[in-house]
Amino acid sequence: MEDIFNPVITAEQANAVRESAGTPAYVYSEAVLCARASEVLAFPAPFGFKARFAMKACPNAAILRLFHGMGIGFDASSAFEARRLIMAGIPAGEISLSSQELPADLEALVREGVRYDACSLRQLEAYGKLFPGSEVSLRVNPGLGSGHSQRTNVGGPSSSFGIWHERLPEVLELCARYKLRITVMHTHIGSGADPDVWARVAKMNLETVRKLPDVHTLNMGGGFKIARVRGEKQTDLQKTGAVVAESLREFAKETGREIALEIEPGTYLAAQAGAVVSTIQDLAFTGEGGYNFLKLDTGMTELLRPSLYGAQHNIRVYPAHDTGRTLPYLVVGHCCESGDILTPAAGDPEGLAPRELPEAAIGDICVIEGAGAYCAAMPAKNYNSFPEAPELLLRRDGTLVTIRRRQTLAQMVGNEIPL
Ligand SMILES: *Cc1c(COP(=O)(O)O)cnc(C)c1O
Repeated sequence: MEDIFNPVITAEQANAVRESAGTPAYVYSEAVLCARASEVLAFPAPFGFKARFAMKACPNAAILRLFHGMGIGFDASSAFEARRLIMAGIPAGEISLSSQELPADLEALVREGVRYDACSLRQLEAYGKLFPGSEVSLRVNPGLGSGHSQRTNVGGPSSSFGIWHERLPEVLELCARYKLRITVMHTHIGSGADPDVWARVAKMNLETVRKLPDVHTLNMGGGFKIARVRGEKQTDLQKTGAVVAESLREFAKETGREIALEIEPGTYLAAQAGAVVSTIQDLAFTGEGGYNFLKLDTGMTELLRPSLYGAQHNIRVYPAHDTGRTLPYLVVGHCCESGDILTPAAGDPEGLAPRELPEAAIGDICVIEGAGAYCAAMPAKNYNSFPEAPELLLRRDGTLVTIRRRQTLAQMVGNEIPL
């Protein structure tokens, strides 16, 4: 694997982004997207395998089509996402839909070929009424989770995602009533970077599979942790896959059932491929005992994760005139909102953690890395009426293509109805 801490784009490329699209702008490296996709596709699985991209991480059509071209399927988190995939030209048969909301057009989507993953008893019953006698996928909350904070926990008692594992009797009752066969069992608990945790989760899941005789596929979800700054752990997919594969083999030996595997990473596939290119707008110094601030023309309008979770993103400053010195900077966004900060304490959006960066001047370029997942997809969009930033793709041949234009002010207010 290349050093994940190599700059995702060079200073020259960042400059080219600024010249062609202005700042702030998202840029994605095709080379890194393809490298991550290849690693995911090489995940070991003894009895069949399908990788799906959790599109909520980065839903731009160009990215979706790039992954589709590599043989990756998709996980949609709402009916709108499923429709967006279809609009992007993705065949419905490549889509698995696991949503918090019961989709309003569930019937049409399933008829078109989308696989539905029932995530609650209510959803299972609604599906049973629409499609009695058919097959369905079931999302189970196995009672264990390991998100990076309480807010990102997607399994265990503090998570509402999926059907609580102790409610299997009610599931079976609904299946009997509507003659449903559960053929796919799905969990997504954000298992992180530790192969041992994945092994435990695989074993727990297979215990549930044991009670569901029609299941031929186990979907283990996403949550493969990646490092955005030094010191954070990066999942080794081969090691993780090996322990999961071992559990599947043991299960087959014991039960004679050869269970196919699916995984659906979002972060792993996209996060390290993306960056936000910004321009330093201003500097502020709050005196002895205070801070040096770098004020950017980006912030929570492009990168909400730091304000939301205290997420850490690598930041590179490219000074036009290198003084050779560094300073501890608090890097802040452009919103009139005190929480718009890009260097919070790790895991604590309230905390301030100055970062040692090259001494910078107004007009210098600042690149925020690790911004390929849950950034363009999850912004504080249009706060302070800042337009949605453009997205560019850095092709493998070094050319830059725009894959989303900057929003205009007219588009921003386009749906308003003045009195
Ligand atoms: C968000 C999500 C994923 C992807 O999670 P990552 O942490 O980005 O890998 C996978 N599956 C489901 C059901 C999800 O909701």
